[in-house]
Amino acid sequence: MAKIKRLLILGGTGEAANLAELAVDQFAGRLDVIYSLAGRVKPVRDLKASVRIGGFGGGPGLADFIKNEGIDFLIDATHPFAAIISANAFDACQATQTPRLTLARPPWNLPPGAKLLEADDIGEAVQLLSGFAKRVLVTTGQSSLDVLADFPDIHFVVRVIEEPAGPLAGDNITLITGRPPYRLDDELALMEEHDIDALLAKQSGGEGTVAKITAAIRNRIAIVLLRRPLPEPGEAVDTVSEALLWLESRV
Ligand code: NAP
Repeated sequence: MAKIKRLLILGGTGEAANLAELAVDQFAGRLDVIYSLAGRVKPVRDLKASVRIGGFGGGPGLADFIKNEGIDFLIDATHPFAAIISANAFDACQATQTPRLTLARPPWNLPPGAKLLEADDIGEAVQLLSGFAKRVLVTTGQSSLDVLADFPDIHFVVRVIEEPAGPLAGDNITLITGRPPYRLDDELALMEEHDIDALLAKQSGGEGTVAKITAAIRNRIAIVLLRRPLPEPGEAVDTVSEALLWLESRV
């Protein structure tokens, strides 16, 4: 009987979870699917795949996991901004000669009329905003927000998925929580409630969080998008079905 192969999916995105579910069904009896989460936020849903939670201990730790668990292939389906784990996956797969595929959703393509600005980090983004914005919706996550305190003339409405462990620095911050997917009506209502005149977000792409972009375009307010980090070299696809095809030829 042919050996059952083992797939490690680095997850934390809706696409990764969808891929895990579909791979379990499509390759039943031929493939074990292990789904890995960092453990920053509570898992969104139960999966049929085996789920493991927590860091590996850098690239070498991930390489050890691959060897010890007999992993045959790795699909890096982490968020496009999760650059450290992707670099670790690159290194670990090089070290262990493990085939690796990146699944990354395409970036949003904003229409020509959108008031779009781009920045490499939050500091640069807020500098851009400081010329005109007074009330900014920030959806870039919990890290690197200290810089907001340096711009007391702007009020920032910061949306995170889960309450941070400690308070965010600065009197000019209102913290709100929310979990994607978001609906357009709700995003429009949120922007109206907080009198938002600009949006600061990551160029994440994907359906789950695009409603804020659509709402900002409708309201004709400025959108500052953080540029994506450069992806790791190697084979890459941008849909779950393409990732399943990649697997089909290997399982
Ligand atoms: P990161 O900065 O690239 O990674 C930091 C560390 O977290 C890694 O070195 C690794 O620890 C651990 N890690 C990250 N993803 C992991 C995974 N899927 N399984 C096991 N360990 C993981 O990551 P991040 O930007 O903090 O993102 C963390 C997770 O949230 C990712 O799974 C990502 O897909 C998801 N996410 C991120 C964003 C975002 O904007 N960055 C948005 C939505 C979802 P060790 O070095 O100890 O292995």
